[in-house]
Parts: sequence; structure tokens; C-alpha cells
Amino acid sequence: MSDAIFAELNRAARLPVETAGVLLASVVSTKSGPRLLGRRLLWVNEDAYARREADGLSIRSSGYVHALGEAANMQAAAVWLHTHPGVGSRPVPSRHDHDVDSELIDVFRLRTGSPYYVSMVIAPTSDTLSFTGSIWSSDDTRWALDRIQVVGDRLQALSSFERHQRSEHAMFDRNIRAFGPAMQATLDELRVGIIGCGGTGSSVAEQLARLGVRQFTLVDPDELTASNVTRLYGSTLAQVGAPKVEVVGAHLRDINPSVQVDQLRSSICVQSTAESLTDCDVLFGCTDDNAGRLVLSRLATYMMLPVIDCGVLLSADAHSRVAGIDGRVTTLVPGQACLVCRGRINLRRAASELLTPDERKRRAEEGYAPALGGVEPAVVSFTTAVAAAAICELLERLIGYGPSPRPSEVLLRMHEREISTNRAEPRIGHYCHEAAGKVGLGITTPFLEQTWSQ
Ligand SMILES: [Zn+2]
Ligand SMILES: [Zn+2]
Repeated sequence: MSDAIFAELNRAARLPVETAGVLLASVVSTKSGPRLLGRRLLWVNEDAYARREADGLSIRSSGYVHALGEAANMQAAAVWLHTHPGVGSRPVPSRHDHDVDSELIDVFRLRTGSPYYVSMVIAPTSDTLSFTGSIWSSDDTRWALDRIQVVGDRLQALSSFERHQRSEHAMFDRNIRAFGPAMQATLDELRVGIIGCGGTGSSVAEQLARLGVRQFTLVDPDELTASNVTRLYGSTLAQVGAPKVEVVGAHLRDINPSVQVDQLRSSICVQSTAESLTDCDVLFGCTDDNAGRLVLSRLATYMMLPVIDCGVLLSADAHSRVAGIDGRVTTLVPGQACLVCRGRINLRRAASELLTPDERKRRAEEGYAPALGGVEPAVVSFTTAVAAAAICELLERLIGYGPSPRPSEVLLRMHEREISTNRAEPRIGHYCHEAAGKVGLGITTPFLEQTWSQ
């Protein structure tokens, strides 16, 4: 959910009496179960409460029927939620709550047209919310709502009140001293997708594993070449010819045997690969291709999936001497401009990258498509510096130590020893703009409303 919706829940949970509402959410089925993308929150009207006290409430159907109609219009599921007031209250459904669920389950499904019914109880803690919840599908499969992800200026992950968290590993003692056990637990549960396993991507992966991230999805179509070994963390000359995802995956498991890696030897421009990233909690864009960045931009909007996109540009003069060292880390979250709005993607090159090699050659000769560049210069120190800036961006948003509002882009001009930051608003009319209605839209046909070749 967005930080605006989370702030509203937080405010309601701190009222002295129970408060109920309906959250409209898109449902995305992923390998690890359904994922709900919260889009709109509708509170029950004051006059629909038949009783509203600190320890209970009852509501007339007029309190939620309009929300169910709205859910049907938006093709969303409706999440029935209510608060248990008082700091330290248990966000656990009472017997009465269970009775209400069994009354509402059919009404909600029937009126929304969604096979899902979701129910949630929230309670305030001293500094945030605690919650429990359940998702029922029409075949009566039930999932516990195990996590709330808040996506925006800050990134937060809250685990369910009933979820047992792993005890911390001695390995992370120094990290815990820096940012506490709760943050370590968050990193422990985070699934991170890394798109591109070259110099930047392998360095991102290396740092995340040492920070305590244990679930990775690695995406890269290429094999390790001798000239990659100068930058690719975990690689050796003996591995030349092996897929990069295997080299990086094996290295992460060497660092910490409890790391689990999904290795996708593929491009993010392949639809099934892009789809399989929907169960990640954050994506790092470490690819140089423009077409891949277009997919990342859409994933960030449609799936409310935060993307931290990295770029490194080395320019050399005619004598192969470095003339400019430019790094960029752009964070894509709802409310901030995407890579297209920022002009960070070369659209002609993106189109050209999606052609078959033969077709591209023919069109380039005819002058219709830009010839794709040859081998770009790359140096481990510069790719590592940009990867570190990207990891610092994640930590900063999870921990929240930086300025607010946060910059959504960091530019490193290393040759001038200069760092600058900026924020950019979405362009009116573009899909990343709230008014386009695409934020959290979820699964569409075609996927991400773009064309796919495979
Ligand atoms: Zn209750
Ligand atoms: Zn945009």
C-alpha cells in the first residue's frame, strides 16, 4: 500500500473507538501466494454504525455496500478491516469478528465479483501498527496475511502479529548494532530481484547477502566472459562460459548457506520472466538495456513494486583515457517520475534492442534503427561505487534516517567528486501519474499493457 493509505490506517487505529473500513485492492497471484495491491480506502460512514465503542462495533450494510460497488467497478477485491483501539491491544479477531467474517464473506464476493474475501484487524503500537488478517479464495483456501509493505517515500515492511520471526544470526551482530533487530528481521524476509548480474548487479547482490537478505531472484541472459571477471563479484577466470546468474547465485550461497536464489537465465523483456518478478519486494535495475528499463518502469507503477535503477556511464576520449565518470541511482515509487518521464531511457534504442539481430542490422543499414553500441568501457571501482549508492538508497528508505521528502535520484559525477540529488513529478498523462489509474492496477491483458514478443 502507499504511505498515504498507511498513514490513514495509522490515524484511525489511534481513535478511542473501533473504526471499520474497506480497502480496495488488486490481487496478483504469485508463486508465494496472493499479493494485494491496496488502491483505495473507504471508511464506514458515521451514520452506518449501529454501535461503536472501544471494545466493539456493529454496522449496517449501508456502511460497506457502496465500497463493494466501487470494488466491482475497479475489478478489485475488498478487504474488510477494523481497529482494536489502545496502544498494545491485540490485533486478533474475537469470536464476534469471526461471526462477522462468515456473514460478510458471500456478500463481499458476490458484490465485488472477486473470488477473494480478505479480513484484517489492526491495532496501534507505540510507533507503528500491528495486524493480523486472512485471505480466503472461493475454493476456501485460506492464507494468513503475513506482511504489509508500505511503498513510498519510506519503505516499510510489517510482519503479522502472529508471525514468528527467525532469531538473528551472530553473523549480523554488527549490522544489528547499527540499525536494530527489527530492521534485520525485515532484511531477512525481503525478496530482492536483481535485473542484470554484471559489475553493478553482482556488487548489489554481494552487499545485500552480507546485510542479511536471503531471498534473491537473479535475472541475466548472458554467460561470463573473461572481460567480465574484472568487475563481477564472486567470479573467477575458471568460470568463464558459465551463466552469470549461476556464478552470482553460487557465490551468494557461499556467503550464507541459508540464502535462496531463483536463477532466471533470461531477459526481463521476456514476459514470463517479468511476471515472475511480481513476488519480489524490491527490484534493482542493473541492466544497461533501454528495453529492460521500460519494463522496470511499468512494473514499478502497475505492481507498486519499488525499483532502484542504476546507471554507470564512462566516457573516454580518443586516446582511451577516462573523460567522464557518471553514475545514477533512480528510485521508482508511486508519486515520483518514472524513467521515461525523466528522459533516462532512449526510446529508439529500446525499440531497436527488441528486434532480432538480423532485423536490427537490416534496419540500421536502412537508417531506421540506431546501431547498438559496441563494447562500452567499464571499471570495477565505478560500478561498485554506484552499486553502493543504490544499497545506501534502500537502507535509507527502510531505516528512514535521511531528509524528508526524499530525493528520488542521486547523480554521482565522480570525475568532479560531486554528488547531486533531485525529485521529479510524474508527467501529466503518463502511466506513472496517479490520475492515469495505473498505480497498483495489477495484472492486465496484455501484461503491463505493453507488447511482448515471447
Ligand atoms: Zn474486532
Ligand atoms: Zn512516467
